[in-house]
Amino acid sequence: MGATDQRFDAAERFAGGAQYIGGRLRPGTSGRMHAVVDPATGEEILRYEPAGPEDVDAAVEAAKGAFPAWAGATPGERSDALHRFADVLAGRAEEFARAESVQCGKPIRLSTGFDVPGTVDNTAFFAGAARHLEGRSAGEYSADHTSYVRREPIGVVGSIAPWNYPLQMAAWKVLPAVAAGNTIVLKPAELTPLTSLLFAQAATEAGIPDGVVNVVCGAGPDAGERLVGHPDVAMTSFTGSTAVGRRVAEIATRTVKRLHLELGGKAPFVVFDDADLEAAVHGAVAGALINSGQDCTAATRAYVQRPLYDAFVSGVADLMTSVRLGDPFDPATDLGPLVSYAQRDRVAGFVDRARSYATVVTGGTAPAGELAKGAYYRPTLVTGAAQSSEIVQDEIFGPVLVVLPFDGDDEGIALANDTPYGLAASAWSRDVYRTGRATREIKAGCVWVNDHIPIISEMPHGGYRASGYGKDMSVYSFEEYTQIKHVMSDNTAAARKPWHRTVFTLG
Ligand code: NAD
Repeated sequence: MGATDQRFDAAERFAGGAQYIGGRLRPGTSGRMHAVVDPATGEEILRYEPAGPEDVDAAVEAAKGAFPAWAGATPGERSDALHRFADVLAGRAEEFARAESVQCGKPIRLSTGFDVPGTVDNTAFFAGAARHLEGRSAGEYSADHTSYVRREPIGVVGSIAPWNYPLQMAAWKVLPAVAAGNTIVLKPAELTPLTSLLFAQAATEAGIPDGVVNVVCGAGPDAGERLVGHPDVAMTSFTGSTAVGRRVAEIATRTVKRLHLELGGKAPFVVFDDADLEAAVHGAVAGALINSGQDCTAATRAYVQRPLYDAFVSGVADLMTSVRLGDPFDPATDLGPLVSYAQRDRVAGFVDRARSYATVVTGGTAPAGELAKGAYYRPTLVTGAAQSSEIVQDEIFGPVLVVLPFDGDDEGIALANDTPYGLAASAWSRDVYRTGRATREIKAGCVWVNDHIPIISEMPHGGYRASGYGKDMSVYSFEEYTQIKHVMSDNTAAARKPWHRTVFTLG
């Protein structure tokens, strides 16, 4: 066994294949092979045959077959199954954390302190929420009829997830869907299939019936598009980049599917001149570097009011320099590699191009020595960029923070709104009227005040503008995964209703 195997032995765990269909692992049928690589070492941790069209069709068939019984289960029965699911996940927390860290390069402190407990909590939340699906009211809105609302599941949901938080993304997609009585086919990113497969297996172990949760691991353009375009899939729920989201929307529209899009972000971090500087500096570094900056809500653009600007820049530079890069499995490591060499090179490309128009204050290189074999990139601080430059406007998805000054409050808020995105933002001030204005005027699905990043199962997550539409987590997500039926029932027993006169007057 190599070092990687001791972290999580994926080859042994998924010897049966990397497709989970109808409660069983099986190999894919795409006719090619894909390697999952530990980005900290470059070692291969699993070689699997990705899903081809036939695998997607088989998974949809399994989900379709499981739908009537699962949709017909009582909320209490679904809730019981989800409570057992939460218990299974909690019992296997260490295995999930190791698998997540090895495939993503995530520091083990992040996997054990955030990804896994967040997933267990989400599962427990949806176990409870499953019993609270309701319509708003019933009554006689016309004197002759009683009306009420039925909230019904949609059917087979096809979900597509990104690689940055594979376990939490699987949870955010699967839980509200199945809590509401749908069945699901989830396609994780090709790079990071491990914890989505473990998650589906844990669902089976908890007694969730075969076919309710299926996972197909394959590439976007073939398995992904097949799933989005499948006529038996009633809804597409996609989390990923805005560019791919547009393509997914085009395909989903052809079959008139319900669509939920959680797309890219470029979160602003607005520091007013009365803010607690130490809190803002620590918040910016943590908010920019979490998960190596591969977080759709990461702090990416800090706008700092002029009086605090110099102190903020030097505070961030000092703190970034003290962050420890290292082996994700060493509990002392703060920052692991990026998910892949390609992603590291993409991030480096943004920073290298910025050198011609901005200043790289710290970072901007890959570390040498022992870490050179991994996809590492140093925490990077950039100043002096124009608001219109690509490093300010485009999603980088790496450990890079750009800082710009502003003068009046109007300007700070206008700059915060000046990208196409609108997923998350934060405002830093001790003045409740300033933060109140920022929370009203910043166009984003989440605005934090004097913090940046925390999420909670009870509260919705989702975008405005080019960051997409629809909500994950919380009871709001049920709006995506259910449809509302109006039932209108005649109370009069009359054969000839008064309104018939608008059509005929006979008799
Ligand atoms: P991506 O868009 O490249 O891929 C996302 C998923 O889409 C993957 O599973 C991929 O295989 C699949 N895909 C690719 N092409 C496809 C196609 N033509 N048809 C169907 N599916 C296809 O994104 P990524 O690089 O995996 O993840 C990073 C992106 O995800 C960032 O833009 C980030 O902001 C976004 N993200 C958003 C949220 C959110 O909640 N808004 C959360 C996490 C990540």
